[in-house]
Amino acid sequence: MDKDKVRQSIQLLLEGLGVDLDNTHYRKTPERAANAWVEELCSGLGEKKFSLTTFPIGNNYEPSMVILQHIPVKSVCAHHLLPFYGEATVAYIPGERLCGLSKLSRIVDYFARRPQVQEELTSDITNFLCEQLSPQGAGVIVKATHMCMAMRGVSHDGVMTTSSLKGSFLNDGTVRAEFMALANTQSLNKF
Ligand SMILES: [Zn+2]
Repeated sequence: MDKDKVRQSIQLLLEGLGVDLDNTHYRKTPERAANAWVEELCSGLGEKKFSLTTFPIGNNYEPSMVILQHIPVKSVCAHHLLPFYGEATVAYIPGERLCGLSKLSRIVDYFARRPQVQEELTSDITNFLCEQLSPQGAGVIVKATHMCMAMRGVSHDGVMTTSSLKGSFLNDGTVRAEFMALANTQSLNKF
């Protein structure tokens, strides 16, 4: 990424909007905003694709569904460069290997930190899981509110839901039903 180019373009954006760049609040905005775009919002673009640490399943373990819910999703839409945010549910049924549960959040975060469309974010996550773990199946659901919809056009802040199913999650009705039922349960804070 070219941070200086990003900084210049934000300066140009503000000039185009007719904002007074000498105003104390704007004086450092191009630099500040460029740092936010490069280091935070789009950091996934500058990061090398990572590999999951995986573990072989035990001899007596009959693979069953592993599911992580309420994973925060914060991203930027490719069409308007405005934020969208919500939650993801990520699940898989292991083949030969497992990964650490926190890695499921890490995958979501990695793919979220770049401009994109929600549909592709959702399938990027399942594709990555399938690539790295060769599971029997995987499923991802993302629910998000888009600021480009809430702040412009119809000014409607509805929630958009996208799903991506692979392997047994797609082909086996029982697995799919279990996933959908688990994905719709509210998590308990205390047991
Ligand atoms: Zn948009």
